Amino acid sequence: MDVYGLIGNPVGHSLSPPMHEAGYDALGIDAKYVTFEPPANEGAAAVAAADRLGVAGLNVTIPFKQDVLEAVETDDLAARIGAVNTIDLTGETPQGYNTDAVGAVRALDHHDVALDGTAVVVGAGGAGRAVAFGLADEGMAVEIANRTASKADDLAAEVPGAGGHGLDALGDLLSGADVLVNCTSVGMDEDATPVPAEALHADLAVLDAVYSPIETRLLRDAAAAGATTVDGAWMLLYQGVEAFERWTGESAPVDAMNEVLRAAL
Ligand code: NAP
Repeated sequence: MDVYGLIGNPVGHSLSPPMHEAGYDALGIDAKYVTFEPPANEGAAAVAAADRLGVAGLNVTIPFKQDVLEAVETDDLAARIGAVNTIDLTGETPQGYNTDAVGAVRALDHHDVALDGTAVVVGAGGAGRAVAFGLADEGMAVEIANRTASKADDLAAEVPGAGGHGLDALGDLLSGADVLVNCTSVGMDEDATPVPAEALHADLAVLDAVYSPIETRLLRDAAAAGATTVDGAWMLLYQGVEAFERWTGESAPVDAMNEVLRAAL
């Protein structure tokens, strides 16, 4: 039996075990997905220990996504993002990837959103970094708006062709934009949005990385404006699907994983 797992602190709330195990069950893969909660600053040590114990793959969440960099070889995208959320432990050296970026891209793709034109990424934290690089790699022109404008500027300087802005620029930025991704935590367990409703329009596709609640105020406002909406559970699903496929080498049973994820949310 293969063992996969998640390291984070805390991990009690994680939806990854039921989502991944639904995938193993659907494909008849003999595997288990478990959670580990190492102490803060022990992320790299936890990766080395899991490797020695024969764990086949790890997901990584807060607060370890940067800490584990020293324990893995990263691919180019994870190196640019500067964070790892998926590790393959089956080779000589642990290999680190960032599937949040691909998760956002595949979530939009699933909803037939064309990944060309201009994307506005709101937020310049971990999710904002991943999504900005992911959409730029797809060929989109990326504009980053953040409450702390200097952090948007810093990120924009690393992402080819990107611009950095404060949140006050959102009205202007969105008037000509094709895709909007909320990568702030605004809207999580609260009825709030970082984007003025009047800036939304019918030619936008709006992905909210926030998945609790599934229907955020931003997505309600976007639907009312006639925009295409993609909820954060799709991004969560596809970051897991991407990890599943890297680890098992199989096409993930997306519908089975999605059903269990949404039932668990
Ligand atoms: P993070 O690194 O802590 O970044 C938080 C971001 O939110 C920063 O840009 C911050 O702006 C902004 N922010 C916080 N409070 C704000 C407020 N009151 N007004 C305006 N902006 C505010 O967090 P993260 O890891 O990027 O996660 C962000 C969200 O994405 C979380 O809700 C997380 O659950 C979600 N997420 C979802 C997925 C998925 O698969 N669906 C994956 C990753 C993350 P400042 O820089 O100004 O502080």
